[in-house]
Amino acid sequence: MKNSGVVVVAGAGGFIGGHLVQRLLARGTQRVRAVDVKPAKEWWQRHPDAENLLLDLRERRACEKACRDASEVYQLAADMGGMGFIESNKAACMLSVLINTHMLQAATGAGVKRFFYSSSACVYNADKQRDPNVTALKEVDAYPAMPEDGYGWEKLFSERMCRHFREDFGLKTRVARFHNVYGPRGSWTGGREKAPAAICRKVIEAKISRKLEIEIWGDGTQTRSFQYIDDCIKGIGLIMRSGWVEPINLGSSELVSVDDLVTAAEEIGGVKLKRRYMLSAPKGVAGRNSDNTLIRKVFGWEPSTPLRTGLEHTYRWIFDEYVRTHGRR
Ligand code: NAD
Repeated sequence: MKNSGVVVVAGAGGFIGGHLVQRLLARGTQRVRAVDVKPAKEWWQRHPDAENLLLDLRERRACEKACRDASEVYQLAADMGGMGFIESNKAACMLSVLINTHMLQAATGAGVKRFFYSSSACVYNADKQRDPNVTALKEVDAYPAMPEDGYGWEKLFSERMCRHFREDFGLKTRVARFHNVYGPRGSWTGGREKAPAAICRKVIEAKISRKLEIEIWGDGTQTRSFQYIDDCIKGIGLIMRSGWVEPINLGSSELVSVDDLVTAAEEIGGVKLKRRYMLSAPKGVAGRNSDNTLIRKVFGWEPSTPLRTGLEHTYRWIFDEYVRTHGRR
């Protein structure tokens, strides 16, 4: 796909958005506009070769500014975080509908050629995720609708807006359902971090403090798949450039339990910790995996970085951040 106009990344100060801007620039994209509401010093990555804008995309005017002269929009901006955040901030998560509504309207008004929307595995019906021995989720499993309360409903609603903007106004929308994405340069502390980063941080804390125990949310049997950031960025590019218009899974199908994740982080850190299970902490669904039949069929590709490989990169980055901010004690 040839880019004649501006390529907009909304949510560029965030984890995935930062990596996406980096990749677009590395691929030689001429005019990249990176947009986020956070102050510049809080962006995970800030690239001087991009046009960096601070805008609150809940506002329609801000979205119009973001989409001016744009040919492509990657809409990743959302108020979100890991389970601990989304379970206790449902209204805030749902207010991301303002971002999606106004970005779709602004992109349509600006005559944008392609619009990418980052949906989530949280759209899937909760009844299909009650057993840790999961049957992986196929795209059709989003209906009948019973998504994650708050965050998942907003994602499902915004997916449908993408469909109807495409059908009614001709905006070429593409939708990926991301399954847990992890990697360096994203939240690892502060309350918005997700399980892989949180577990790496806890292992690092235990190792540095020599207090050899770890707190685990839930009983450790919950299962998930975790997708390394490089695979996610590659998948976004494939989906954006393709003719596939329906929501499609973008996730790893390597299913592991939370206990397995802790073991992997312990091995990387070279420690063995006493596990304390916090049974009343937020833990999400019992089991979730990505069925990759469709993405393999459409692209002859699927995310395949082994968890152990991606987690090593992530652990090392968090270790350095931890030492930089806390010292070695
Ligand atoms: P992130 O929180 O790191 O990035 C989101 C960015 O959006 C943040 O920098 C935030 O400041 C920005 N933002 C929030 N409100 C805004 C506003 N009003 N105006 C402008 N910017 C605003 O999250 P991420 O992990 O990079 O996720 C990116 C997208 O992918 C999100 O839409 C998220 O829901 C989706 N997703 C992520 C995962 C995952 O595992 N990381 C899984 C499923 C879906």
